[in-house]
Formats: sequence, structure tokens, C-alpha cells
Amino acid sequence: MIKLANRVSNLSVAATIAMKRKANELAAKGVDVVDFGIGEPDFPTPEFIKMAADRAMAKNYTKYTNTGGIPELRNAVADKYHREYGANFDAKREVVITCGGKQALYNVMFALFDRGDEVILPNPYWVTFPEQIKLSGASMVELHTCEENGFSLSAGDVEKLITPRTKGIILNFPNNPTGAVIPKRELQKIIEMARKRDFYVIFDECYEKFVYNGSSISGAPFGKENVILVGSCSKTYSMTGWRIGWAAGPAEVIQAMENLQSQSTSNPNSIAQWAAVEALTCNQSFVQAMIDEYRRRRDVVVDGLNRVPGIKCALPEGAFYAFPNVSGCFNSSIRDSNEFINYLLEEAGVVTISGLEFGRDGYLRLSYATSMERINEGLKRVQKLFG
Ligand code: PLP
Repeated sequence: MIKLANRVSNLSVAATIAMKRKANELAAKGVDVVDFGIGEPDFPTPEFIKMAADRAMAKNYTKYTNTGGIPELRNAVADKYHREYGANFDAKREVVITCGGKQALYNVMFALFDRGDEVILPNPYWVTFPEQIKLSGASMVELHTCEENGFSLSAGDVEKLITPRTKGIILNFPNNPTGAVIPKRELQKIIEMARKRDFYVIFDECYEKFVYNGSSISGAPFGKENVILVGSCSKTYSMTGWRIGWAAGPAEVIQAMENLQSQSTSNPNSIAQWAAVEALTCNQSFVQAMIDEYRRRRDVVVDGLNRVPGIKCALPEGAFYAFPNVSGCFNSSIRDSNEFINYLLEEAGVVTISGLEFGRDGYLRLSYATSMERINEGLKRVQKLFG
């Protein structure tokens, strides 16, 4: 019998994948499935970004690059943070390019956390965070956020969980799965508190541009010795398959991340890096057009869900997810979120992700990264099933 290492035996497999498999099986049987499970923008990568990749290939930029990325891309990331947040990162020492935001998060956790360390993680959380914390050997300390506060959190909430073993906190705003954003003053306070109490703030802002109510964290004290920013081209530029992300933070942490990367993946794809330079340095107006469309969809989704008896959906301020409370629909045969999403799939052909995957029963996640036509069709089916 094959005996796998404990670290992989204990790993959870993303439920999104299991759900996709089920949906595919139904579609193969001829069922018209409406997919609200998707975690990526439904727009293609813009043409001029693809053309930059063509040019990179024509110029034979097809060999190893520096492990931490080409200087042009590191500069583009540092410039972006200077422009948008007023932060001053040294592109050479304080920025590293990674194979997507996910690898940046993995590397930063492996660079900072050891067995015995505690890492504060707000719940609901993106499915990958608990697994990466577990792989690093640290323990997760959950910070319960609530619907009444829009799933956001305050410095006071964090303070209650700090112990001498606290080594870090993972903040993800705009949030997957809730769409919550964090007020700038709370973020400032948390960063300040982390500095005083000697722990790190890992700030995952892969959905940074998907903000609908004009809230901004510009001017937050990024670039300080205890903050690591993680970003990505995946969502903002519809480049999920290209696998380009980054981290910006203290030189020692960034160097450690680069060392880890040098012994695992080496540099991110050379051609994709050049495409990312184009994405970050070009005119950004097309991003705004995408955000405007997502805002319209968000409003339709939230309004449609709130018309269903038993469902209550707060207005998400960012990302492209709604996280409705569906516990009002529970009964003797639908007893939790898993049973709810299975019922929805089997009876109405609508794919959603159970709140339990994000650590929270009574909720589910709907992605509105799908066309208005499919959104309306999906909502109609949910309304019919429960109305
Ligand atoms: N962080 C969050 C909260 C995400 O939802 C995702 C992707 O779904 C990522 C990070 C990583 O994205 P990528 O590795 O494609 O950059």
C-alpha cells in the first residue's frame, strides 16, 4: 500500500473542484447548469496583454529569469504601490514575483511560521489559508466575523486573540468569500498593534480593484517592517491561467521567500512576466469598465436573493462574491449548507459553494463572475425552488 507523508494525507481537497465535477456530470446528462461557483473573471485576458506575450516570445524571452522575477516587473509592482498607496518599496530587495498570489502566500507562510506559532485568521476564510497554515506547522486561531458588521473586523477584535505565541495575522480584503472590505483606520490600528506586539500582518489583496463603494486603504502604513502585501494579476487583469503574483515587504522576508522559490518552482513563467509588465503599466481604464459591470451584477444578485423567502443577503462591498445567509431555508431535510447546495444543484441545476468550506454553516458563496443572462436565469430558479 502506498504510504503518503502526513502533511499530504491531512490536506483537504478544494470543495470547489468536487462541486465542479458534480456539475460536469449533470451537464453531461443534458442538464442546463447555472454556475455560480466560479472563482475567476469571465472576461478574456485583454488583447494587448496577450500581444505583449507574443512580443516576448518573438524576442526569445524564453529562458530562466531571476528567481524573484525580471527587474521590469519588480519595478512595475514597486511603482504601483508608490502610486496607489504612497508606499516606498525597493524593487530589487523588497519585491518578489511568484507563480500567482497563492505561491506568494505559501512562501510567506513558510518563510515566517514554525511549529508552535499561532496565526490569526478571520472566519469566514478563503479555503487555502487554513491548509497553508497547517502545512507551515503553525496553529490557526480563528477570528469570528459577523454578518451584522458586514464580515469586517476591528483592531479590538484582533487584540483579544493575541498571545505570546502570535506570529501573524492573515487579512484578505476585499474578502473571498464575503466581499467584505476593511476600513482604513482599523487596518492602520492593526498594523500598529502588530508592530508593538511583534507579529506580522500578511495582507492578501488579490481582489484589490474589486471595490464598489469607493472605500480606499491608500496611505495605510504599508512598507513597514511587519507587513507583507500579496497581490496578483489573476483577477484584476483576467489572467488566472498565466500564474503571476507577487509579494512586497521587508527585505529579509522577501529574500527568504525567494530562497524557498529557488528550491521549488524557480522563476515564474518568463513570457507571462512580460505580459504582466504590460498589464501593470498600461492604461487601466479597462479594469474600471470590468468593475462597473461587476457592480451592476452584484446589485442584481443581492436584490434577487433578498426576494427569496428564508434568504438574507448583505451587500458585499468588494470582490465578486455574495455570501447570503440561507439558514432560514433549513428544515428537516436541508439541515446545513452542504445539504442546501446539493439540493440547489440537484433540483435546480444551480452550482454554489457551501459556507462550510469557508468555515461557516448557514451560508453559501455565489460568484457573480458570470453573464447577466445566466445570473437572471439562476436567480429565477432559486426563487422558484424556495418561493
Ligand atoms: N487570495 C484569494 C483570497 C483568492 O481567492 C485567490 C484565488 O482565488 C488567491 C489569493 C490566489 O490567486 P492566484 O494564485 O491566481 O493569484
